[in-house]
Amino acid sequence: MNSSIALKAENVNKIYLQGNKQIQALKDISLEVKTGEIFGLLGPNGAGKSTFINILAGTVNKTAGTLNVWGFDLDKNPRQVRASLGIVPQEINVDPFFSPRKLLEIQAGLYGVREKDRITDEILKITNLADKANAYTRSLSGGMKRRLLVAKAMVHQPPILILDEPTAGVDVDLRRKLLDSVKELNKQGVTIIYTTHYLKEASDICDRIAIINKGKLVALNYTKELLKNNSDLEEVFIGLTNKDNE
Ligand code: ADP
Ligand code: MG
Repeated sequence: MNSSIALKAENVNKIYLQGNKQIQALKDISLEVKTGEIFGLLGPNGAGKSTFINILAGTVNKTAGTLNVWGFDLDKNPRQVRASLGIVPQEINVDPFFSPRKLLEIQAGLYGVREKDRITDEILKITNLADKANAYTRSLSGGMKRRLLVAKAMVHQPPILILDEPTAGVDVDLRRKLLDSVKELNKQGVTIIYTTHYLKEASDICDRIAIINKGKLVALNYTKELLKNNSDLEEVFIGLTNKDNE
């Protein structure tokens, strides 16, 4: 695989079975994420964003298609794929009784990162949590907990970081801090895949944006080009959302 491609999806499909009902959450998704970019996955609620991320995380099995991450095939080398990815899930679940430092140490242990190779303090700094390193996690604000999830996803220093709607329920100031942390990690060379249903947020930080709706890829381009070709992308996006409700 071309080394400038961090992630490649080919004809990825997902059908959930619910009783005798079939829900097609992803339809022939094919895309490439370039090494070093901030790639946006934009779509309204129910578009299939989390399904795509959860397939990469290994918590959802795809129905068809292939995924290659950092040169590794998901079906043939799931462990290497997992080692190449840091994933910040949509749901916040952090143990409230440990401190951020302790949680990062535990996570590093789970990933088999040796003590001398751990970069706990550096991660705490990048995610703006250094002064909360030894606090009870339950005392952190929603935005701080979210940044702690980013920190947790980075303990094994994966080349690719995936964030699934990280700013949901986060206030404006904390949202900014979170986005700053993401940009800082990107500056240090981490490829970012950023999922959101906010067009503004995607166009603010992403180099390229893929728009998905009802499981289908409906647009993929450089952010500048997308904004240029659709003088008001917001309208296009709202159009999609409305169609979804028909
Ligand atoms: P998004 O993250 O873009 O909001 P999701 O990937 O969560 O979208 O959901 C895509 C579609 O798949 C939705 O119609 C959703 O209801 C459905 N879906 C998601 N998870 C499941 C599941 N575990 N079982 C059945 N249907 C699901
Ligand atoms: Mg989701």
